[in-house]
Amino acid sequence: MDGRKISLTQKWSQFTHSIRFRLVLWFVLILGIVMVVFSAFIYFRQAQDVRSQALARLNYTVEHTLGSGNEHESLPDQLGENLPAVNGSPLSLGSSPQAGEVLALQAADGSLLQNMGVLTDAEIQSLDLPLAGWNGVVQVNVPKSVSASPGAYLFADPILQQNGRVSGYLLVGVPLDPNNQLGRLLISLILGNVLTLGIALTGGFWLADRAMRPVSTITQAARQISETDLHKRLNLEGRDELSQLGSTFDAMLGRLQAAFERQRQFTADASHELRTPLTIIDLESSRGLANHRSAEEYERILGTIQAENKSMIRLVNNLLSLARMDAGQVKLKFEPLDLSELASEVVERMQPLAQVQGVELQVGALPETMLHGDRANLSQMLTNLVENGIKYSSRVSQPRVSISVGSQDEAGRHIAWVRVSDNGPGISPEHLAHIFDRFYQVEASRSRADVSGGDGSAQESSGTGLGLAIAQWIARAHQGEIRVESTRGKGSMFEVVLPAG
Ligand code: ADP
Repeated sequence: MDGRKISLTQKWSQFTHSIRFRLVLWFVLILGIVMVVFSAFIYFRQAQDVRSQALARLNYTVEHTLGSGNEHESLPDQLGENLPAVNGSPLSLGSSPQAGEVLALQAADGSLLQNMGVLTDAEIQSLDLPLAGWNGVVQVNVPKSVSASPGAYLFADPILQQNGRVSGYLLVGVPLDPNNQLGRLLISLILGNVLTLGIALTGGFWLADRAMRPVSTITQAARQISETDLHKRLNLEGRDELSQLGSTFDAMLGRLQAAFERQRQFTADASHELRTPLTIIDLESSRGLANHRSAEEYERILGTIQAENKSMIRLVNNLLSLARMDAGQVKLKFEPLDLSELASEVVERMQPLAQVQGVELQVGALPETMLHGDRANLSQMLTNLVENGIKYSSRVSQPRVSISVGSQDEAGRHIAWVRVSDNGPGISPEHLAHIFDRFYQVEASRSRADVSGGDGSAQESSGTGLGLAIAQWIARAHQGEIRVESTRGKGSMFEVVLPAG
C-alpha cells in the first residue's frame, strides 16, 4: 500500500516536472491572461455602451416628461453627466414613464408630490440619493431587499423653476441595464474563457504528448542499450528536431559500436598474439624438461624461448604505446628539429641490424629540413619504417633500403617529407588498404616462422602488426600523413608528409 502511494507520488512529481506539463501550463497561463485582459476590455466597452444607452433614455424621459407644456431650456442631444436646470410650469407630470423607470415630482423642500414610476415613495426615500436638486446624474444600486425592481439605476433631478424661483424637482431614474446585457455578457465571457482554456488544456496535452513521444522512445531505447548491445537504433522517421536528435543519437551509437568493436578486436588480437609465443615457450620448455638433452639442444631450446620472450616484450611495449596514445597520455614535446639529422641518426642506429640481415642501407638526399616535432616520437616512426624495410626486403637478393628527405612537394608547396624505399617483395593491392590497421600482418605465419626457425639473428625483426599503426599515429599527431606506394615483386615506398616550420 505504502509502495503504491510512493510510486503514485513519484509519478505525480515526475509529471509535474515534465516538459509536457510545464509547456502546457505556461501555454494555458499565457492564453488565460490574454483572454482575461481581452474579456475585460470587451466587458468595459459594453458597460460604457450600456451606460450611454441608459443616459440617452434618461435624457429622453426628462425631455419627454417636461414636454411641450413646460417652459424650459431645451436639453442638449447628448445629455451628458450634467443636466441643466429647466424652467417649467405648471408643476405637474403630464406623461407616464416608460416601463421600469422611476418618475417623481419633488417639491422645493424635497418631499414627493407625485410618483408614477416603478419605485414606491418609501422605496425612493430609502435610497441613498443626494439631497434634491443636485446637479448631474448619479448611479444608485437598488437592493433586492428594498424593492421588487432591483438593480442599478441612473438618476437625474433637474430643477424646475417658475418666474426665476425654484418650484420643485423632477426625479427621473432609468435602469442602467434593463435587459441584463452586462450580466449575460459576463456569463458568456466566463463560459467562453473556461471552455477555451479547457480545450487549450486538453489539446495542449494531446499535442505535447505527440510532440514528446519521440523523447520517450529515445529514453526507452537508451535504457535498453547496454554496453554489449550497441546495435540497437532508434530509426525515428520525419525531419523535425526530435528526429534529427534521434539520427544524431543513432550516429553516436554507430560510432560507439565501432569503437567498442575495435576495442574487442584489439583485445582479441592482443591475446591471440601473446598466446602464440606463450604456447611456443611452453612447448619448448616441456620438451627440454622431458628428457635429458645435449648441450646444443638445450642451447637451441633456450634460444627459441628467448626469441619468443623478446617478441612478447616488443608486443607488450607496442601495446603500451598504443594504449597511452589512445588514452591521450602521450604528451608530445614539440621543438624545432632537422628531419635530415633525425634520419641520419636512425640510419646510424639501424646499420648493425641491416648488416646482420644483409641489407644495404642507403642514404639519399638529406638537405636541412626544419620542422616542429617531438624528437623521440618522430625517431620511433622512422625506425619502424626503416626496420620494416630491412625486415621485408631481406628476403630478396641484393636487398636495399634507402631514406631521403625533402622540403617541397610536387606542387612546390613548402612541407617536410621523408621517404623510406626498399626493393623488397612489395605489398599486393588487397593488403595495402589494411597495413596501417592494428595487428594487420600480411604474412604473419611466415614472419613468425622466420623467427622461430632462425638462429636468433632474426629475433629482433619479428612482427606484431603494430609498427605501422604506431607510425601513423605519430604522423597524425604532427598534423602529417603517411602513405605508401608498393608494387608486388618490386618494392615499397613509404612517405611521411609533415608541416614544415
Ligand atoms: P609488422 O610488425 O608485422 O611489421 P607493421 O604494422 O609494421 O607490422 O606492418 C604491417 C604489415 O605491412 C606487415 O605485416 C607487412 O606485411 C606489411 N609491410 C610493412 N612494411 C613493409 C615493407 N617495407 N615491405 C613489404 N611489406 C611491408
